[in-house]
Amino acid sequence: MTAPVETDERRGMPSASSFYRYRQCAGSWTLEQEAKKLGQSWNPHNKDTDKGTRIHSYLSNPDSIKLEGEEINDALFLKSRAEEQVTRIFGQSKGDLHELREKRLFLKELTEHWRGNLDLSAQFDRVVYNEEIVLIQNYKTGWVEPEHPKANGQTEVETLLVAIAVMKFCKPKRYIYQFVTAQFGVLETEINYERLAKIYEDVTGTLSAIIDMRAPLSPHPDVCGKCPAQLICQAVKNQIGPMTRLQISALPLEPKKAAALLDAVSILYPHLDAIWEFYQANMEKEPAFLNAMNKQGYDIRPGNERREFTDIARARAILSEFIEKEKMQIWSSSISVYEDLYSKATKLKGKDLKESFNQLMNGCIKIHRNKSSMERVRGTPAITKLPQ
Ligand code: SF4
Repeated sequence: MTAPVETDERRGMPSASSFYRYRQCAGSWTLEQEAKKLGQSWNPHNKDTDKGTRIHSYLSNPDSIKLEGEEINDALFLKSRAEEQVTRIFGQSKGDLHELREKRLFLKELTEHWRGNLDLSAQFDRVVYNEEIVLIQNYKTGWVEPEHPKANGQTEVETLLVAIAVMKFCKPKRYIYQFVTAQFGVLETEINYERLAKIYEDVTGTLSAIIDMRAPLSPHPDVCGKCPAQLICQAVKNQIGPMTRLQISALPLEPKKAAALLDAVSILYPHLDAIWEFYQANMEKEPAFLNAMNKQGYDIRPGNERREFTDIARARAILSEFIEKEKMQIWSSSISVYEDLYSKATKLKGKDLKESFNQLMNGCIKIHRNKSSMERVRGTPAITKLPQ
C-alpha cells in the first residue's frame, strides 16, 4: 500500500475546515503529514458527503451537474432559503450587489504580511457583498446540526480570508456569516473589524505553533474522531491502557472520574471504527490484499437490499391483476406485505418469488443496497494478545 500522491486542492497546506483541530491539538498537523507518508491517512467518506458534494456543485453552477429526486429538492430549497437571506440583509434593491461562488482563497496570495512557512486556505460557497456589508453563506446538507458559526474555527478563518480579499476593492464594515441548512434553519453570526484583527493574530499564531515538530498531541473528543492522523496517533492509543485495567465492578461512579472515562471512550470509539474501516477500504481497493485476508478468514459481505415504493398507486394497480380483490383491500406501504400476497397468489417462493416480484414492480419500486461490511466469515479468532 503506497502513500497517495499529493493532489489536494489545498496544496497540502492547512485549511479552514481543520483549524479548530489545530487549535486544540497543535501536534496534529505534523502527525497528519506522517500519516499521509505512511499511506494511513484516515478520511471519513460516506453517502451523505457524496450527496453534499453534488448539491454544492449544483449550487455553484447548476449546469455542471444533473440532480434528481431528493437531491434537486434539497438544492432548490437551499437556494431559495439563501436568496431570502440576501433580501432580508440587503433589501429589495440588489443593483449594487456583487456575487462570488465557490472559490478557494489562500492567505499568502491575499497578503504579504504573513511570512510564515505554512499557507492557509478556505473555500467559501457563496459571497454576496456591496460597499457596506459582506455576507458569506455556507450550505450545509447533512443531518447533524452544525456547531453554531459564533464559536467555530472554520467560520473565523473563512471570514478572515474573504474579508482580506474583499478589502482590496472596498471597505465594508459588516461581515455576516451564515450556515444555510435544510434541517436546522439559518445559523448566523456577525464579525466586526476588532474581532477580525484578533482572528488574524490567532490564526497566524496557530500556524506558527503547528509547524513546530515538537508541538504536543492533545486528544480531545471534539477533534480526534475527524483527525486524519488518528490511525497512527499514539496519544489516542494511550487512552486504551488505563481503560483496560479497569474491572467492571470498579467503574468509577464519582462524577469527575466517570466523565473523564467517558471522554476517553468517546475518543476511542471513532479510533476503533477507523481501524475497521481502514482494513475494509483496503480489501475493497486491493484484490491481492482481499485474497490474502480471505485466507485469514475475513471477507466483505455485500449490504442488505432495501426496496421502497416510488409509485405505490401504480404498483397496487398492477398487483390487483394477480391478487384477489378482497385481499387488496388492505393498505400498506410495506413491500413485504404485497410480496407475501403475491407469493400466495402465484405459489412462488424464495429467489423465484423475489425475481418475479421485482420484475413485475419494475418502475414502481426502487432498490437500494446498504453499505457492505467486513466480517470474519471463517475460522476462529485466535487473539490472545494484540500483534506488536
Ligand atoms: S488523533 Fe487527536 S490527539 Fe491524535 S493528532 Fe489527531 S487530534 Fe491530536
